Amino acid sequence: MERRIFTADHEAFRATVARFVDDEVAPHHDAWEEQGHVPRELWRRAGALGLLCTDVPEAYGGGGVADFRYNAIVTEELCRVGASGVGFPLHNDVVVPYLLAHATDVQKRRWLPGMAAGETITAIAMTEPGTGSDLGAVTTTALRQPDGSYVLDGAKTFVTNGILADLVIVVAKTDPSAAHGGISLLVVEAGMAGFTRGRKLDKIGMHAQDTAELFFDGVQVPADHLLGEEGQGFAYLMQALPQERLSIAVAAVAGAATALEQTVAYCKERQAFGRPIGSFQNSRFVLAELQTEVTIGRQFVDRCLELHHEGRLSIDEAAMAKYWTTDLVGRVVDRCVQLHGGYGYMREYPIARAYVDARVQRIFGGTNEIMKEIIGRTMGL
Ligand SMILES: Cc1cc2nc3c(=O)[nH]c(=O)nc-3n(C[C@H](O)[C@H](O)[C@H](O)COP(=O)(O)OP(=O)(O)OC[C@H]3O[C@@H](n4cnc5c(N)ncnc54)[C@H](O)[C@@H]3O)c2cc1C
Repeated sequence: MERRIFTADHEAFRATVARFVDDEVAPHHDAWEEQGHVPRELWRRAGALGLLCTDVPEAYGGGGVADFRYNAIVTEELCRVGASGVGFPLHNDVVVPYLLAHATDVQKRRWLPGMAAGETITAIAMTEPGTGSDLGAVTTTALRQPDGSYVLDGAKTFVTNGILADLVIVVAKTDPSAAHGGISLLVVEAGMAGFTRGRKLDKIGMHAQDTAELFFDGVQVPADHLLGEEGQGFAYLMQALPQERLSIAVAAVAGAATALEQTVAYCKERQAFGRPIGSFQNSRFVLAELQTEVTIGRQFVDRCLELHHEGRLSIDEAAMAKYWTTDLVGRVVDRCVQLHGGYGYMREYPIARAYVDARVQRIFGGTNEIMKEIIGRTMGL
């Protein structure tokens, strides 16, 4: 079904991203999975090509086009080759908006140019060993000192880009006696005394993604590293999370489309009982069902992208997109593995990696159960 949300400018940008992904990402991704992270140089190359921070004003080094469809194109092209280790979407779609919305001009001048150039890799640390879904219960504290600075103490886990990150937005309680109203966002930079990284976590998939634990032990955070206002952190998170969820939905549909395309090709080629396995009615029915569902999912996500561009995507619509499409990609990769037979279980086949890589999408960015809570609440339940 025709996609109507992209203009000729978007398609030209897609061609640039596609070339970068085909030439500089896909051939190396296996090696990055072995080493557990992507090289810093990849970020600089992406920065030089204008693939990072497209929506950041030119005055701060960005592309100067406030249009999330460009972000979506970067995500889609990475998913087209199964490049689950490249953390650009987290940087572009999740971290940048906090700085654009809440940083002062001085802060923007300090941090955004490096982020757009790929010199400064970013992360956001919300989740803690003891709490993930219930953000109001975070125990990391940032206590204000008489000179206005903060002393940051706590531990974060499951942080995407955590090993490579030069700049981390840390969710902490500046008022530990309060719940949501006590949360603030602080920018912590690599090299600050007391900021250390733990293990690169041993995940079942996304092996090239450097997901890590981060520790903050009496880190002195200057007053001008506070983002926005003290105590407003939770409100800022709630404003930004729909875009994060839409980003995940874009990845989910793109990943599902890729898995399906690969499986159709496999089913045309692989023979059993003297005929291509795709010619069995069961295979055709499965693939037809998946094709239908991916098409429906893509249309819904495209509509969400349109609404987001118009500033009208609601929290529940973003939650619907995240929940439904990540369930969708789960169904798609599972059934595609089945159609690959034993080869579907071998890591040398992209579908096997897609199978493990996709699983986490139902968990991060807010679990799908939390998405349903959000949707249910907006129904007055
Ligand atoms: C690969 C990966 C990358 C990640 N990247 C980041 C990152 O960059 N930054 C970051 O801060 N975090 C990140 N996360 C963390 C992720 O967002 C959390 O894992 C997620 O929010 C769930 O939190 P939790 O793991 O503590 O699970 P819990 O909150 O303990 O949930 C466990 C189960 O209980 C269910 N549950 C909890 N509350 C409710 C409820 N009210 N109603 C119904 N069911 C409920 C959940 O749905 C889930 O099924 C990442 C995680 C992974 C695995």
